[in-house]
Amino acid sequence: MTDDELRKLLGERIASVEVRVTAACQRAGRLRNSVTIVAITKTVSVRVAELLPELGLPNLGENRPQELWKKAAAIPGAIWHFTGHLQRNKIEQTLPLISMMHTLDSFRLAKSIDDFNASIPILLEMNCSRESTKGGFAPEDLRVIGDTLMPLEGLMIAGLMTMAAHSDDPEVCRSTFVELRNLKDRLERIMQRELPELSMGMTNDFEIAIEEGATFIRLGTVLFQGLEAE
Ligand SMILES: *Cc1c(COP(=O)(O)O)cnc(C)c1O
Repeated sequence: MTDDELRKLLGERIASVEVRVTAACQRAGRLRNSVTIVAITKTVSVRVAELLPELGLPNLGENRPQELWKKAAAIPGAIWHFTGHLQRNKIEQTLPLISMMHTLDSFRLAKSIDDFNASIPILLEMNCSRESTKGGFAPEDLRVIGDTLMPLEGLMIAGLMTMAAHSDDPEVCRSTFVELRNLKDRLERIMQRELPELSMGMTNDFEIAIEEGATFIRLGTVLFQGLEAE
């Protein structure tokens, strides 16, 4: 594909996602600017990813540290998000590159990030679908989570993140998103502070996530399908 063809195709996909996001916001009585699209670029090259900011998607996300380091160096104009499992020995090299960490998934990692004192918003990954293959904290542990994290002053907890179970029926995801919103409300009471962000919704379910309060949706396939080799 030529650069012009690639730019045109991505522009069309972004425009069609934008229409759907705007419609979901309207249905939910929300302002369009209350939802941020994070383009998850893990399946595409720098050549594809670097076109996104100029096409109106400055927020990019990766879920492998090495890939994030590489792309962040190549595309410094993007706003980077980390959406994967972060090993503690990669904190120092990763946190300074990103503007939000979506996937705090253990107390050990929380303690290390607290020690590092990174002043970026951190979201707690919650395993709402209870799948053993997925990371994150168990919703049942919310009280312990709140009590353990509250004293960590170097940790800027800003909200919650989840991945819905894979299902061909997007409505099945709705209950997961409702649960995450309820967990956020409960954690706000436990921690006695506001947690404004909910990172939820991917290609198959982002409109439902917006209806249920997502402030960040994370999109890969709907933007990049078929562009893996470009
Ligand atoms: C890959 C990925 C996405 C994007 O998923 P799609 O269904 O392709 O839109 C979102 N969030 C995380 C954490 C991912 O790893």
